[in-house]
Amino acid sequence: MRKNIVAGNWKMNTTLQEGVALAKGVNEALKNVTANCDVIIGVPFTHLASINEVIDSTKLGLAAENCADHKSGAYTGEVSAPMVASTGAKYVILGHSERRQYYGETAEILKTKVNLALENNLTPIFCIGEVLEERENGTYFDVVKAQIEDSLFELSAEDFGKIVLAYEPVWAIGTGKTATADQAEEIHAFIREVLVAKYGEEVANNTSILYGGSCKPSNAAELFAKPNVDGGLIGGAALEVESFMGIVTAF
Ligand code: PEP
Repeated sequence: MRKNIVAGNWKMNTTLQEGVALAKGVNEALKNVTANCDVIIGVPFTHLASINEVIDSTKLGLAAENCADHKSGAYTGEVSAPMVASTGAKYVILGHSERRQYYGETAEILKTKVNLALENNLTPIFCIGEVLEERENGTYFDVVKAQIEDSLFELSAEDFGKIVLAYEPVWAIGTGKTATADQAEEIHAFIREVLVAKYGEEVANNTSILYGGSCKPSNAAELFAKPNVDGGLIGGAALEVESFMGIVTAF
């Protein structure tokens, strides 16, 4: 059966020293609770190897926030999937709306990144989600379906089974405006139907679909209580141990 997951996305926040301290804080806090979910932190590239040294990887997973769409070579400033894997990270966030919006990541580029991640035994946490206009004009079902189809549906069922999805409505990211639990459940259930149609019940039911967008301790329990919401991808609230743990313990 699919896993419940709470994953932090630190984005471009914290210096190395601050990041190591935050990771240590989460790691310590996890010793004192029974988490009913897998817990992951997504951190800047510069922090990966150092944080890997200070966390208990049996309790806290480590993710990069991106990887390059090439394996190696003359791509100045890029960080490849093999490089990420060599730090000890086991996950990589791909297709975040900020990457799509500000760095022109297309479905095609993301398809390549997903393949490279999988080849390097990294679990992609693949983000999808509509912008406000698409929510308001009712095209959000089609938008989300196309994002999944265009980057992921050439995967075999076996490889698709390694993907974690994160539905993140762009209008809810960093805005303080959360989708209601019913809005989240509606689209998560739809996403699962899309997966059933392509890969069948078993793969669909085993795929974790996280919600992201202004998730916080005060709304996490209601969101996570929905049958098709398998956890959260957490931005702002992942930057403090207390608020992140407040979400982890919402399960
Ligand atoms: C995110 O960027 O993945 C996110 C969900 O951000 P926030 O929780 O801050 O809305």
